Amino acid sequence: NIPVITIDGPTASGKGTVARIVAEKLHFHYLDSGALYRLTALSVLRSNIKIEDVGQIASIASHLPCRFADSRIFLADEDVSDAIRKEEVGIMASKVAAIPEVRKALVSLQTGFRKAPGLVGDGRDMGTVIFPDAILKVFLTASADIRAQRRYKQLMEKGIPANIDSLRNDLIERDLRDTQRKESPLVPAKDALTLDTSHLGIDETVERILDWFAQ
Ligand code: C5P
Repeated sequence: NIPVITIDGPTASGKGTVARIVAEKLHFHYLDSGALYRLTALSVLRSNIKIEDVGQIASIASHLPCRFADSRIFLADEDVSDAIRKEEVGIMASKVAAIPEVRKALVSLQTGFRKAPGLVGDGRDMGTVIFPDAILKVFLTASADIRAQRRYKQLMEKGIPANIDSLRNDLIERDLRDTQRKESPLVPAKDALTLDTSHLGIDETVERILDWFAQ
């Protein structure tokens, strides 16, 4: 059975960065499941499909022409790595993610990432729904203030203009949508280990997870 480590948590909790480094250190594959919802959202935003049009959105999700190569993300032949990180795409992603048919459409794409020697999966429902038999399940949290600061810094580094108060409001709103939706809400798996990273650096967080994995 191919080992899986799941890292779930709210937006801007540091999951992405941490999961990527853990995967690198273990020479495991990496699944950025949020990117799949973002790719679906980007396709919806570019079309004139309405959010109520559940069937069409699910169909987009089940036929996503996506490719992950050298840490870049492609939709058909277009490199959309930066485009999918925009706030408006993140907000739309949390809306399409609340549609049960969309979540179902993305299941097999996600489980397909499970390949030898192992996988680190980052998202909201990795430990609860997609990989319930993962050997290590981590739930990362951090206060809304700290997460808004981190997101702000990330965007600044990429030269994307941002406002810290609206980032904070957006992420609180997105947390609410993620935790209160009926389908696969954002909750720690019963057997998850929770880690509050408000006052932990990336290296310390990675180390803690690698220690847990080694035990
Ligand atoms: O992690 P990221 O911010 O890229 O995810 C974008 C959105 O996709 C989240 O706000 C969440 O609503 C949704 N998502 C999800 N389940 C996952 C990963 C992401 O519902 N496994």
